[in-house]
Amino acid sequence: MKSLILTAATVLVVLLMQYTGTAQDKDNEIRNSKFTIVIHGGAGTISKSLPDSIKQAYLQSLKEALTIGKNILAEGGTSLDACQKVIEYFENDPKFNAGRGAVYTAAGTHEMDASIMNGKDLSCGAVAGVEHIAHPIDLARLVMERTPHVLLAYQGAEKFAEQMGMKLMPQSYFDTQERYKQWQEYKKKLEEGNHGTVGCVALDEYGNLAAATSTGGMTNKMPGRIGDSPLIGDGTYANNKTCAVSCTGWGEKFIKHTVAFNVSALMKYRGYSLKKAADEVIYKMLDPEDGGLIAVDKKGNYAMPFSTSGMFRGVATSKGVFTVDIWK
Ligand code: ASP
Repeated sequence: MKSLILTAATVLVVLLMQYTGTAQDKDNEIRNSKFTIVIHGGAGTISKSLPDSIKQAYLQSLKEALTIGKNILAEGGTSLDACQKVIEYFENDPKFNAGRGAVYTAAGTHEMDASIMNGKDLSCGAVAGVEHIAHPIDLARLVMERTPHVLLAYQGAEKFAEQMGMKLMPQSYFDTQERYKQWQEYKKKLEEGNHGTVGCVALDEYGNLAAATSTGGMTNKMPGRIGDSPLIGDGTYANNKTCAVSCTGWGEKFIKHTVAFNVSALMKYRGYSLKKAADEVIYKMLDPEDGGLIAVDKKGNYAMPFSTSGMFRGVATSKGVFTVDIWK
C-alpha cells in the first residue's frame, strides 16, 4: 500500500513538472524555462551626433554580448556563468572601459576594479586596483570561490592571480589610442568624458539571480582611487529574495548612497516593485547626470533607469525580448 502511494506521488510530480514545463537539474534545483538577462556598457554623456559607424559598432557589440549571455541561460546555464561570460566579452572589447579598454589614471596607468555576486547564497568576490589582469571579472570569481575573502586589491590580488595560474599582462596591453585621446581631452577641458563600465544581471532557469560589474574607473582618477564597481552593495548586489543590480556612473556618489543595496532594501523593507525601487534611487536619491543601473528581480522583471544622456544597454528574455539601446 505504502509503495503504491509513493509510486502514485512520483507519477503526480512528474506529470506536474511536465505540465508546468519544469525539470530537475543536476544540483537538484527545479528548472523552469524562464530567464532574463540585462547588460550595460556604461552610462554617461553620449552625444546623439555619434558617427553612425561608431554607433553601429557599439550596438553590434551589445548584441554580441547579449547573445552570449542569452544562449548560456537558454541552455540551462547559471546566471553567474552568464554574467561572467558577458563581462569577459566586454573586457576584450576596447570600446568599453573594462579590461583591455580601461581608462587612464592621472599617472597614465590603468587600474581596474570588478565584482561578482551570487544571489542564491550571497557569495561574492571582488578585485580592486589590479593593473595586469586581462579579465578582472575572472579574478573576482576566483576570489569568491577560492578564498575566504570578498575583496582583494593591488599586489595581493595579482599575487593571488598568479597562484591561480593567471597570466599577468604588461600595462601596454591596456594602452589604446581612443582612451589615450580621451584622457588628453579630459585634461584639456577638465570635464568628464568617460563611460563604458560594463555590467550584467541575470535570472536563470533555476530562479537564481546574479550580478557582475567591471571597470577601469574614472578617467584621470588618482592612482589608488577605488570606485563603486568592486564594492558589494554599492556597484553590485544580488539577492534571490529581492533583485540583482549592477551600477554605472560617478562612483563616489554611488558609494555614498549605497545604491545597489538600496534598490534591494526598498523592495524588501518598503515592498517597492523593482521599477519603483530602481527609479527612486536613480532619480530621487542621486542627482541628475550621476549615472544609471540595470536590475532584474526573481520574477524576471527588469529595470534600466539612467539620468545621463545615454547608457549602453540591452535586455533579452525567454519570452523573446531582445533589444539593445543607447539613448532614451
Ligand atoms: N562607476 C565607475 C567608477 O566610478 C565608473 C563608471 O561607471 O563609469 O569607477
